[in-house]
Amino acid sequence: MRDLLGETGESGGAVRIAGHELPREELLTRASAVAAEIGGADAVAVHATASAETVVAVVGGIMAGVPVVPLPPDSGPDERAHILNDSGAALLLAAADAETGHEDGPPVVPVDRLPAGSPPAPASAGADPDATALILYTSGTTGAPKGVMISRAAIAAGLDALAEAWAWTPDDVLVHGLPLFHVHGLILGVLGPLRVGSRLVHTGRPRPEAYAEAAGRDGGSLFFGVPTVWSRLAADPASAEAMRAARLLVSGSAPLPVPAFERLEALTGHRPVERYGMTETLITLSARADGERRPGYVGLPLPGVETRLAAENGDPVPADGETPGELHVRARHPFKGYLGRPEATAKSFTPDGWFRTGDIATIGPDGWHRIVGRASTDLIKSGGYRIGAGEVENALLAHPAVREAAVAGTPHDDLGEQVTAYVVADGVTEGQLIDFVAGRLSVHKRPRVVHLVDALPRNAMGKIVKTRLNELTP
Ligand code: ATP
Ligand code: MG
Repeated sequence: MRDLLGETGESGGAVRIAGHELPREELLTRASAVAAEIGGADAVAVHATASAETVVAVVGGIMAGVPVVPLPPDSGPDERAHILNDSGAALLLAAADAETGHEDGPPVVPVDRLPAGSPPAPASAGADPDATALILYTSGTTGAPKGVMISRAAIAAGLDALAEAWAWTPDDVLVHGLPLFHVHGLILGVLGPLRVGSRLVHTGRPRPEAYAEAAGRDGGSLFFGVPTVWSRLAADPASAEAMRAARLLVSGSAPLPVPAFERLEALTGHRPVERYGMTETLITLSARADGERRPGYVGLPLPGVETRLAAENGDPVPADGETPGELHVRARHPFKGYLGRPEATAKSFTPDGWFRTGDIATIGPDGWHRIVGRASTDLIKSGGYRIGAGEVENALLAHPAVREAAVAGTPHDDLGEQVTAYVVADGVTEGQLIDFVAGRLSVHKRPRVVHLVDALPRNAMGKIVKTRLNELTP
């Protein structure tokens, strides 16, 4: 089997990050020093700033066969303590001068002060494919982040499926500025280019100007972003124009609003590829580089992945493109479970072995998937109707004055829940917005209440945390 990190002797896979240029050979040599230092530990945490040290540390852990736990560098003391205690990491890998804020945590290994390692040959040969490579914490959008144990085989298979779907080759230059502690930034964004052998340019933060610059100066061809990144780019015509030089723009981690898709296409000439995934399943659905792309849809199952829909009582839901149901996923390499939570792990699978995503979707007769939202926060039950928050959000976002919108159900005496919108907008009143969407949505889907707010609560991945929307109103 091909090594998880690509084969020794390959030249591709150089990384530029935070002003450092790391050729593949140097990266692997420095990582082998980390591997030598930590070999035998049960698990190691990484202070996961957007830095060369993070890349070296993660690769070193993978070479040593020690599970790596990336820690969000800006997490507050509670989240940090939660992840460190929960994972039982024995060491913390960080740059020597990093402000880790982990005075009470495990001993720090200064990644940039280790004696030079020897060039590995091969990088991580002989490792057990079922061994845990990474313990990634979920984004914490719906509750406390859970540690997801991911095997080497799952990462390798997931990346190969994406390389195929996106025609990702060593000739590509991948550009993104995503955080390095989730699937998107770390597995797709760092291990992806190493395995494929393509160059990575990390922009520090996902700023439109930095993406535009990388599209020109660095020959960036493949760009990753979360929807907030693409919305920002669509609001910056000069930067968007520069993206015409790119080959493929990929959006994921949260829904890309249809109006943002359309603006992006008009300005960049690219129809973005949307993909859907979770920490637990890695990427399961995507449009293909050589195929159709539909606004509002997340594509087709990747190779090695099967999907189905189920009703709340478990009954099958037809793939008619209209009837929503909970999305279930079955993959050749499922995740290994939530760390220390055997009951939560067991509950997340059906008796016949399918993973319950907790997301509501429709599947068309042609296999195209649409994500309606999360069962817990995006499905509003109002007056006997089931309303997907995303459709209402898209209708609001179509108004030119609206910059951001989140829709949720709030308690209502007669209806059970009423459709309530939280909107960031300039120069428009609540009443004007209600009138605007009235032309676009059937009566029961129209927001009964609109709150104009300064900003929406978001987590580190830029996802809207709907459970905190009620804090925005008195
Ligand atoms: P937690 O599980 O801690 O509440 P989380 O679910 O946000 O947090 P992740 O595993 O990072 O943690 O995110 C997976 C979720 O992101 C999916 O279940 C889905 O709700 C959402 N998601 C990912 N990609 C898309 C997409 N393209 N469209 C819509 N939703 C998406
Ligand atoms: Mg989740």
